[in-house]
Amino acid sequence: MRELDENIQSFNPRELESDKEMEQLVRPQGFADFAGQEKVVENLKVFVQAAKLRGESLDHTLLFGPPGLGKTTLANIIANELGVDMKITSGPILDKPGDLAGLLTSLETGDVLFIDEIHRLPKIVEEYLYSAMEDYRIDIMIDKGPGARSIQISLNPFTLIGATTRSGLLSSPLRARFGINSHLEYYNSSTLQRIVKRSAGILNIEIDDRASCEIALRSRGTPRIANSLLRRVRDFAQVKGSGKVDIEITRYALDALNIDKRGLDMMDNKILNTIINKFKGGPVGLGTIATAVGEDSGTIEEVYEPFLIQEGFLRRTPRGREATELAYKHLGIDIYRDPFLF
Ligand code: ADP
Repeated sequence: MRELDENIQSFNPRELESDKEMEQLVRPQGFADFAGQEKVVENLKVFVQAAKLRGESLDHTLLFGPPGLGKTTLANIIANELGVDMKITSGPILDKPGDLAGLLTSLETGDVLFIDEIHRLPKIVEEYLYSAMEDYRIDIMIDKGPGARSIQISLNPFTLIGATTRSGLLSSPLRARFGINSHLEYYNSSTLQRIVKRSAGILNIEIDDRASCEIALRSRGTPRIANSLLRRVRDFAQVKGSGKVDIEITRYALDALNIDKRGLDMMDNKILNTIINKFKGGPVGLGTIATAVGEDSGTIEEVYEPFLIQEGFLRRTPRGREATELAYKHLGIDIYRDPFLF
């Protein structure tokens, strides 16, 4: 158990994304390079092509999914395929309506405004977005007190692309203003392996199939993590090996980094460990788990749980969440151990 706790404490693969430059370098620029998410991509291709044929701006688009699955990448691809510019901002940065007005008025016809973490947009800024999205105009208050008046500014038609990890937190008026809704899913390992091989090619990393497969399996279904692990493994290959990434150096590197064999991260393991050790494997309510692990219950529900359920570690029942036999096995805990011992 002590060993397990150490594992849980030590390393979170999501924190590996130090090199923004590398992320930029390997980021797909067109639909052709974007692996997986076939349904989402097929639909977006149609909508983009139709908008181009009609010479109109694309409908406002909401991209929803856990971090690192390609929301920013897709927004960028949409802008590239439309042949327009994209301005990038994020919900928490836009804290005054004036900031939003400045951005909106700088957009040319058809341009894309990408707002990351759109669920964190302050209410007052969100309300300005409504008329901008619907009628391409904003009403701004100038002056204060008795001299205050509102002026209306017309905007060029534009496309808002919003990205969110927490669709449940989006208000219904905002949600209703998006004509296109795309939900990104975790990637299977063969798609992740393709992504790892492509990135290795771009970064001139020599890697064999078993190694790319191993990285794919340990990446929590997430391209960002796969790319980060590739970079880490390359470091080990250069310093401790021949420079070539093979299965031995990959396993050595991933074990040295305490990357979980099934790709789970620190919080995933903490959730499972808590359910098993504090709540006898469940069922236990989401709120109780959240308090016990010190994480927001919405984040657990929308960011952690989907992967744990998909991979068969967790079950959602009417009475709460339950750890599966696989979770016990994964953590090395005997499911039939004496209940009086804990
Ligand atoms: P998000 O905005 O959802 O957090 P990003 O779009 O920033 O995720 O993606 C993180 C990284 O993963 C990017 O650098 C990109 O290179 C890579 N990536 C994401 N999705 C794909 C994909 N489908 N194919 C190839 N690479 C991808």
